[in-house]
Amino acid sequence: MTHILIIGAGECGARAAFCLREKGFPGEITLVGAEEHLPYERPPLSKDALLLGHAPRLVSDAARYLEAGITVLTGISAENIEPLGKTVRLSDGRNLAYDQLLLTTGARPRPFPGQNPVAAASGTRIRTLRTHGDAVAIRAALQPGTHLAIIGGGFIGLELAATARKLGARVTLVEGLPRILSRGVPEELAAVVAERHKAEGVEILCGVKIRGLEENREGAKILLDDDSTIAADLIVVGIGAIPNIELARDAGLAIDNGIAVDASLRTSVPDIFAAGDCCSFPLSHYGNRRLRLEAWRNAQDQGQLAAANLLGAEETITAIPWFWSDQYDLTLQIAGLADGAAQTVRREMAQGAFILFHLDAGGRLIAASGIGPGNTVARDIRLAEMMIAAGIHPDPAALAAPDTKLKTLLAA
Ligand SMILES: Cc1cc2nc3c(=O)[nH]c(=O)nc-3n(C[C@H](O)[C@H](O)[C@H](O)COP(=O)(O)OP(=O)(O)OC[C@H]3O[C@@H](n4cnc5c(N)ncnc54)[C@H](O)[C@@H]3O)c2cc1C
Repeated sequence: MTHILIIGAGECGARAAFCLREKGFPGEITLVGAEEHLPYERPPLSKDALLLGHAPRLVSDAARYLEAGITVLTGISAENIEPLGKTVRLSDGRNLAYDQLLLTTGARPRPFPGQNPVAAASGTRIRTLRTHGDAVAIRAALQPGTHLAIIGGGFIGLELAATARKLGARVTLVEGLPRILSRGVPEELAAVVAERHKAEGVEILCGVKIRGLEENREGAKILLDDDSTIAADLIVVGIGAIPNIELARDAGLAIDNGIAVDASLRTSVPDIFAAGDCCSFPLSHYGNRRLRLEAWRNAQDQGQLAAANLLGAEETITAIPWFWSDQYDLTLQIAGLADGAAQTVRREMAQGAFILFHLDAGGRLIAASGIGPGNTVARDIRLAEMMIAAGIHPDPAALAAPDTKLKTLLAA
């Protein structure tokens, strides 16, 4: 019987496995995951799940894998791929033969220079946040009055800051660059986020150069370049993620800021696909520029696309990059890539929410980013996403006018 092996039991791998069955694949499916849990959602880890100390929110429960005939091996990692013989060696000593292989190995936190990534995952006061275990350990350390120092003003650090404030912790966030969210988030939006954190009592220090980190039984310290220190009970490092490419690289697959795949998610080696956080792919809407996207919906979409193509569909990536973040009652959403924008148009919305539309030099809509309480920007960002996908050149004045319905621009 044909065997499709999926390495990496996260959002993307699980989605791909179910999608293979939904598309009628009758063969054998094995999903191999290094973590002890069945595939679970990561976004809640920095948000309310951390606050409430929940169990992992599973993508699907054990019964559904059983029902779908998907074999899930948890707590087992793939250690070596032999592409010629089409076998994979597992950490329990087994060799699995496959007909087709999908790599969904995800990413891991970038450690602070000199930080021991193994120690960071176990019982120390200097941690990172990627897994359920990380979230449990951070939650256990956060009490009213605990001083949490966060290194990195990206999404994970900021979401954690908001959650820690809700738990009554004192929070200092240290960013090396002149502002928070400098990667992919327009300054106007980042300023709203920064103001809100300050109003909630988070101390944000930007442009800070860090010399090193120290810890002992009493606490931890950030040592700054100007010889001052920030003492904390817990330090969480949130300075980005590194794709898990080692398995693919050692098997001879092409690597380019992630496992390099084509628009169909095919790697450089026949019968091996890759998808989700671990891969970089060409984006047709943006001149085929290569991108690696660490985003939940991308992991889902690419899991489904990979499943279709494993079954011979030859579909290509058309999805517009999309990302959201929740902090306090604010939701931020970004569709598309704004960095090639020649013009930005602001549209005011109810409850202080707004959306920035980013147009290229030819007037084509290439991105939209919005922020506001709850769901205020969700519908219009969705419409903007459809406009980006359709390659529309909207009238900037109409985009800015709050009473113009975006639907009419999409239809025009
Ligand atoms: C705290 C947090 C909050 C987030 N919040 C948001 C958000 O608000 N919005 C948003 O859009 N995105 C968010 N994300 C990003 C989103 O969760 C990821 O993009 C998504 O989980 C990627 O899924 P994946 O399956 O590609 O990779 P992963 O979720 O990383 O899963 C890969 C799995 O593969 C396993 N693995 C790796 N190597 C091997 C091996 N050799 N053998 C076996 N198993 C292996 C790993 O252990 C892991 O379990 C967040 C991420 C984190 C960490």
